[in-house]
Parts: sequence; C-alpha cells; structure tokens
Amino acid sequence: MADSLKGRTALVTGGSRGIGAAVCRALAEAGATVAINCRERIGQAEQLADEISKRDRRAMAVAADVSQREAVAAMIEQVTAELGAVDILVNNAGIAITRGVEDLTEDDFDRTILTNLKSAFLCTQAVLPAMRARKWGRIVNISSGAARGAGSIGPHYNASKAGMEGLTRGYAARLVKDGITVNAVAPSLIETDMMSGQPQLISRIPLGRFGTADEVAKAVMLLVDNAYMTGQTIALSGGMAFN
Ligand code: NDP
Repeated sequence: MADSLKGRTALVTGGSRGIGAAVCRALAEAGATVAINCRERIGQAEQLADEISKRDRRAMAVAADVSQREAVAAMIEQVTAELGAVDILVNNAGIAITRGVEDLTEDDFDRTILTNLKSAFLCTQAVLPAMRARKWGRIVNISSGAARGAGSIGPHYNASKAGMEGLTRGYAARLVKDGITVNAVAPSLIETDMMSGQPQLISRIPLGRFGTADEVAKAVMLLVDNAYMTGQTIALSGGMAFN
C-alpha cells in the first residue's frame, strides 16, 4: 500500500496513543497526510506528528474534545486550513469507564455516549460537505466486541458501541452514491492504556494474548483501501465468541 493514499488527508480522533496512534502511523506509511487529534495530552500527539514528519510525511497534532460541537468545528477548520479537506476520517476517540450495574451513574452514561458515539456523529457531519463535493471519502468507526457481547466495562459502553455500528450502517446506506464508504472495526481486547492492569482478561481469549494496536490498524487500512465495501464491521476478537 506504499503511497496508495498519496494526496489524501486523514483525521484520526484520539490518535495520540493506543489504537489511534497505530492507525496514524499506518495511514502515513500509505502516503496520507495525517491530523492527529487528542483531548488534552497534546505532547503525545505532537511527538507522533514529529515522528511521522521525519519519515517525509506531513502530520499535525490538534487538541479538541470531540464530544463538543464547537470544538469539532474549530478542529475541522484548522485541519482543512493546514492540510486540506479531510478525505479519510477515523472515529476512534473513546473512553471506558468500568462500572458495576449498581454503581453506574447518569454522568457515566452521558459522558460515554457523548465521547464514544456523539463524537462520531459530530465529526462525520463536519467532514461530509467536503467529501461529498469531491465524491470520495472513507469513514472508519472504531466499535468494539462490546457492541454485541457484554464484555467487562458496563452497559453504557455496550450501548455506545452498538450505537456506533448503527451509525455506521445508517451513514453507509445514505452516502454510497457520493463515493463515501462507512465501515466499522470491532476489536475485543487490545493491549493499550485502556486495557492496562487487566491481565486476568487474557484467560478469556482463545488465542492466549491481547491483540495489538497494529493488528487493528491493519483492519482499518483494509477498509480505507476498498471502494466496494461499505456498511460492514470487521471484528478482531482473538477467537472470542460473543455472549
Ligand atoms: P486509549 O485510552 O489508549 O486512547 C484513547 C484516545 O482517545 C486518546 O488519544 C485520548 O486522548 C482520546 N480521547 C478520549 N476522549 C477524547 C475526547 N473527548 N476528545 C478527543 N480525544 C479523546 O484507547 P484505545 O486505543 O484502547 O481505544 C481506542 C478506541 O478503541 C476507543 O474507541 C475504544 O473504545 C476502542 N476499543 C478499544 C479496545 C481495547 O481493548 N483497547 C477494544 C475495543 C474497542 P488523550 O490522550 O488526550 O486523553
């Protein structure tokens, strides 16, 4: 895929670390110019932008809370001004507030839905006009095995990720005529900060290890590289069955 994305601009929400950072590296490797979003740890995003720039690719770091409409609008404006209109959007930013049913609060629920689901709606709406005008776009939403199974985080997280897959299918059907594909990737247990300190979960995985962020990035790239696949979800579960 070397240089297959030359001339394309990508935006990865939550791209400063974990799965998002691996996706940024893979997109840059394929020739795309990359905007790396984070919420607050701008230092990490800037470090990754430097790393990518050293490999002769353009990259920028942009801090914005993607659950907030004004922040998303400002981010898209800045990215478009500096790198050009967004051709590839990866809605990856997410949080996992682990709670038992008894302890789950309305605030946990709202924050999770805003960050994991509404953010994807806000970012998609913001990039759509330019994608439509160019008759080309790729949107990849990072869902989770928790969209279908219970998992270990809580029902609020399940709801946010099931919503992400509904959003994916809903946009896919409506945007196909504009040359825009919309797909999802649903990882189960991936070794990132989000999963740190939970080695006991490995015993649930038939493959006997967590997945890596690079393995998730490969699935994202498969979708970015394919014009005929839309409205689909690729699962990476290490052999785990959904319950
Ligand atoms: P990490 O916790 O490692 O990284 C999260 C990223 O999201 C960071 O860059 C963080 O920015 C950013 N972020 C969080 N909230 C916001 C916000 N409001 N606005 C902008 N950026 C934000 O997560 P992972 O890499 O593990 O997860 C990435 C995605 O994959 C998530 O959607 C998660 O739900 C999903 N996923 C993860 C799995 C796993 O096992 N790790 C399994 C299945 C799905 P900052 O650094 O500034 O905080």
